[in-house]
Amino acid sequence: MYDYLIVGSGLFGSVFAHEAALKGKSVLVVERREHVGGNIYCEEKEGINIHKYGAHIFHTSYKNVWEYVNQFVEFNQYVNSPVANYKGELYNLPFNMNTFTKLWGVVTPHEAADKIAQQRTAIKGEPHNLEEQAISLVGTDIYTKLIKGYTEKQWGRSCTELPAFIIKRLPVRYTFDNNYFNDRYQGIPIGGYNKLIEGLLEGIEVRTGVDYNMSRAELDGLAKKIIYTGPVDAYFDYKLGQLEYRGLKFETERLEEVNHQGVAVMNYTEHDIPYTRVIEHKHFEFGTQPVTYVTREYPADWKPGEEAYYPVNNEKNQSLYQKYAELAQQEKNVIFGGRLAEYKYYDMDDVIKSALECAAREL
Ligand code: FAD
Ligand code: UDP
Repeated sequence: MYDYLIVGSGLFGSVFAHEAALKGKSVLVVERREHVGGNIYCEEKEGINIHKYGAHIFHTSYKNVWEYVNQFVEFNQYVNSPVANYKGELYNLPFNMNTFTKLWGVVTPHEAADKIAQQRTAIKGEPHNLEEQAISLVGTDIYTKLIKGYTEKQWGRSCTELPAFIIKRLPVRYTFDNNYFNDRYQGIPIGGYNKLIEGLLEGIEVRTGVDYNMSRAELDGLAKKIIYTGPVDAYFDYKLGQLEYRGLKFETERLEEVNHQGVAVMNYTEHDIPYTRVIEHKHFEFGTQPVTYVTREYPADWKPGEEAYYPVNNEKNQSLYQKYAELAQQEKNVIFGGRLAEYKYYDMDDVIKSALECAAREL
């Protein structure tokens, strides 16, 4: 009998498994996909690590999390600085003095702030949704060119039906600084994300291609306790209804070119181009290979059974999630953790922090 059965080999499951094994616990990890790592998994082709489930840039301000991951892998000096492409016009992201200068010809931070202040008067009082939040942060021009089309493609909903917090993920700066994140530490693992997961899971028994929810009867008997990192509604067989997720489709192409777009991430912010981002993977690691791989990322409606990429944290889903969370509380031998089981828009560092806290409470 194992001490823990861990469902899912993403960051939450792998960090917990590692900590449990360190404490001398016996652990079995089961994973629905044919490989470990969850959404951070990469596939190497011609010396280039392809981010199979979308671009992943590690960034954190938690010193303990940074030190934790650095036990397994070193990080390079990559700083994410995506470029937005709106109908062939290019703008730096996040919204900063480079963006404002290109858009309005302004020169000083003061001029930029005045421009935004004029445009923000369209919104009175506290913002209630993403559209109001975006306009109050950056004004109507940036909202129209760089936010509205991208966001409505990404989420398949109008900006007036989306929660404001989503847009607060992006910094707004009155300096010439194209760093997409405000965090203290940032980079891409040297040798790829798989090295991080392999380090975490070293010496741990893993069975891939096993869906826990399909073989629960036999798996439940194998361990004293379960750590579940799959979708919370799937655990309860959707008995209160389905939580909504946003899906993605990826289209990857090999090009006989050294440098296709000159940047790792280009966002396509107009509504009529069906993809949101084009990733040129080699630039995450300053690759100099004679070929390149690019991936177009298409947002898609999601159906049960498909990979659930983003929780749609609007009021309707949050209130359904609360009901599932109450059921989850009553499962005494199961701990629910991670992006899918907590239905939360977690970044990697938050997932690692949460798994470490869970391990500290539990072990
Ligand atoms: P997951 O990685 O989803 O792992 C859960 C695992 O459980 C999966 O492997 C799944 O196959 C498995 N599983 C599910 N159900 C079952 C079942 N029934 N039986 C067995 N196994 C099951 N974060 C950042 O910090 N920086 C970024 O740049 C970034 N970019 C992102 C881009 C995209 C497109 C997406 C979708 C996410 C991004 N993230 C980013 C977030 C990051 O992917 C997550 O924070 C992290 O991977 C979550 O880890 P997890 O263990 O909670 O979930
Ligand atoms: N966003 C946008 N335009 C962009 C990039 C992002 O409007 O060019 C909005 C969009 O709503 C997105 C949110 O900002 O969902 C958060 O962006 P982030 O890059 O953090 O999204 P993720 O990498 O998690 O998909």
